[in-house]
Amino acid sequence: MRLAPDRHYDAFMSTLETLRFDNTYVKLPDIFGVKLNPTPFSKPPYLVSFNPEGGALLDLDPREAGRTEFLEYFTGARILPGSNPVAMLYAGHQFGHYVPQLGDGRAILLGEVVNQAGERWDLHVKGAGLTPFSRDGDGRAVLRSTIREYLCSEAMHGLGIPTTRALCIIGSDEEVLREEGVESGAMLVRLSPSHVRFGSFEVFYYRNQHDSIRLLADYVIAHHFPHLAVVGDKYLQFLTEVVTRTGRLMAEWQAVGFAHGVMNTDNMSILGLTLDYGPFGFLDDYNPGFICNHSDRGGRYAFHRQPTIANWNLHALAEALLPLLTEEQAKEALAVFEPAMVARYRELMQRKFGLTEWRTDDAELLTGLLAILHANHIDYTNFFRALGRFSTEDGVPNSDPRDMFVDRSAFDAWARRYRERLLSEGSKNEDRQRRMNRANPKYVLRNYLAHQAIALAREKRDFSEIDRLLTVLRDPYAEQPTMERYAIPPPDWGKHLAVSCSS
Ligand code: AMP
Ligand code: MG
Repeated sequence: MRLAPDRHYDAFMSTLETLRFDNTYVKLPDIFGVKLNPTPFSKPPYLVSFNPEGGALLDLDPREAGRTEFLEYFTGARILPGSNPVAMLYAGHQFGHYVPQLGDGRAILLGEVVNQAGERWDLHVKGAGLTPFSRDGDGRAVLRSTIREYLCSEAMHGLGIPTTRALCIIGSDEEVLREEGVESGAMLVRLSPSHVRFGSFEVFYYRNQHDSIRLLADYVIAHHFPHLAVVGDKYLQFLTEVVTRTGRLMAEWQAVGFAHGVMNTDNMSILGLTLDYGPFGFLDDYNPGFICNHSDRGGRYAFHRQPTIANWNLHALAEALLPLLTEEQAKEALAVFEPAMVARYRELMQRKFGLTEWRTDDAELLTGLLAILHANHIDYTNFFRALGRFSTEDGVPNSDPRDMFVDRSAFDAWARRYRERLLSEGSKNEDRQRRMNRANPKYVLRNYLAHQAIALAREKRDFSEIDRLLTVLRDPYAEQPTMERYAIPPPDWGKHLAVSCSS
């Protein structure tokens, strides 16, 4: 056909121009943000990576990513029809100290897209240029940090952990100066049902603008906790649910071995999602004191402190909600944290061990294991994956997990208890092994893997490793025989890569 159209339209897919926006945040009073458009790069933009799964959340036809307009719409050179860009206001406690005004200093919420399933997705561009909240910053993000956030948010989703999502990275040759030197600027388009943070409430509490706290709480409840809108003590229920979700999220992080690195209250999602990926890290060798953030000298956000810090952050949120609650109600809601976190952690560890129930004594099995993993510098992810091949049969050496230990006797002693425990519930090897493979990922975004993808992108403008990692990490529980190399613990050079807040 000579007159074939160059693009194919699917009736169920949106084009960039037909995305269905319903922008609710921007309709809040003016003090909640500042309306402004992203500042386009000074050099031509190019597509670094597009995540078709992110596009699918918007019902966006993946072919749209190939259009020049795609780059223009998401970098501010054109305005998406229906969008109404706004930089959101918030404050927060950073490393324990209250900072009265933060806000989107380099991010802009383009608008909220409602997909055919009725889900609402914020289109949020990180690295979008200066805003009135930029303080001393340049409003930009570097390619390095956008690749890390892009990959990790999708990796977390693949692992089944609540998180913001990612649509794409757009790069440019615009120079951005960071501690490490000159880098190239990039924008990450992030998706989330909401970007409201604990700090979004704190800002109004410390400014004594209590009407705005109520307005924001009502707004969040109406859009994200609609089942609470009609209950009498809705603010108590709301806080209780945020506490529960946050507690459960901490359990997920601890069970998978994820360290966030900057758990300031401005990085805590009101929806209990993993938000704002900076100097995060997954455990390689099991080390409870792991500090992934090079700038965190005191270890405030060390791996094993995350539940404590989340609880601290929830107290800061609860305080900001005091104009809506009695102190007793706030305490009642906060009391839910520990049971919610512990119950979820047990559930997850039970699954990791392949147990069908959690018994009181199992806590010892767990602490005993963590102690020998730590002492023997054993890779956390790979150990549990190997434990999924454990057999209770007599005479089977269980070399997969056993050979990971220098001190084999430490493993043998623990394995005897584990075997007894499995037999005590009549555990069947094959059935358990199948279940464990769905609980113990083979692939996580190890720091050195992200580092390799970043090096290729920066040095050779080769983005293929980003896409390969995206594919592997999307399905972290599957074997993926051609991808074995991504399951290997870091080589020596990749063991202690410093990651700072610089991004
Ligand atoms: P983060 O540590 O990335 O969560 O950022 C903390 C605060 O600093 C937020 O208000 C950010 O918007 C702001 N910020 C971080 N980097 C920049 C930058 N390059 N330019 C402007 N604001 C920034
Ligand atoms: Mg942040």
